[in-house]
Amino acid sequence: MTDKLKSLLPENLNEPKSHAELMRHKSLTQKAFPHVRMRRLRRTDALRDMVRENSLSVNDLIYPLFVEEELDTPAPINSMPGVMRETEKSLEAKMKEVAKSGLKSVMLFGVSHHKDHTGSDSMNPNGLMARMIDRAKQAAPEVMVIADACFCEYTDHGHCGPINTMGDVDNDRTIENIAMQAVTAAEAGADMIAPSGMMDGQISAIRHALDVTGFTHIPIMAYAAKFASVFYGPFRDAAGCSLGQNDNVPTHRKSYQMDPANGREAIRDALLDEEEGADILMVKPGMPYLDVLSQLRQKSDLPLAAYQVSGEYAMIRFAAEAGALDYKEAMMESLTCFKRAGADLILTYSALDTAHWLENS
Ligand SMILES: [Zn+2]
Repeated sequence: MTDKLKSLLPENLNEPKSHAELMRHKSLTQKAFPHVRMRRLRRTDALRDMVRENSLSVNDLIYPLFVEEELDTPAPINSMPGVMRETEKSLEAKMKEVAKSGLKSVMLFGVSHHKDHTGSDSMNPNGLMARMIDRAKQAAPEVMVIADACFCEYTDHGHCGPINTMGDVDNDRTIENIAMQAVTAAEAGADMIAPSGMMDGQISAIRHALDVTGFTHIPIMAYAAKFASVFYGPFRDAAGCSLGQNDNVPTHRKSYQMDPANGREAIRDALLDEEEGADILMVKPGMPYLDVLSQLRQKSDLPLAAYQVSGEYAMIRFAAEAGALDYKEAMMESLTCFKRAGADLILTYSALDTAHWLENS
């Protein structure tokens, strides 16, 4: 027997006495070692880089920022380590930092001190929403400023529109108002409008209003499947729009945001937004809803966005602070998995950190 043939045999077998015995050993060996070895392409860093199916780029990231009026200095948000409420003035430096990092876009959220029943400050050309958009564009004209279009940060009851006589958010009054809010944002310089209230018909109302006022070029990113999620908790603290402070209104948003149990309904709702003229569809929250994102990827050719919400961010940050996870590794894995599930764009509070990691990788 040649050395080569001997080498085919497991070491612990004695030398075979006949060809038949050799063949029996060989067939055992072949069964144990198949032709297809998935590990062949996992052997080295270079090889893994070559066959990677999805990768994260700074172009994919949208950075949400909180801006509070009448604030003297930027204030940390305790439930979101590393995230600040910016002042209107400090927003300028933040926008310059964003531009330098290579990030392409921000989404602005106002923390209002002028709240009322309808959230009228957000429709005022001199209100916080208009002022912060204008400031952001002046500071970094090349960065896309996306206006989150909703009322919950501007209403005294914290809901996403005025309350009707039945004690529920009035859909049709809200979409009339949101059309005005969107035009106010566009006039202030917003590059994109992102309605987040989950009102029926809001996309077509905004599209019509933008078109008749000369803003045909402004795209709409629809919060197309937004679930009534507990993972928004830290955001509600950050933006000062928690429910439950007013006895006469519901203490939840389940009559307009979606039931977390419903996947088919999410696809229907998102495709309606596409029909109404949305340019980008978003799924929110992110990680618990990757199945919805993946299914929507099969059903729509529009760019898709996923929102890694405040609770997801907080879970990773607090786990890292407790020593249970590595912040960078956990964040990069999470964001890459959004890409794998079908997202073209990801909103994340880690955008600035991630931009730095990508630059240095
Ligand atoms: Zn809202």
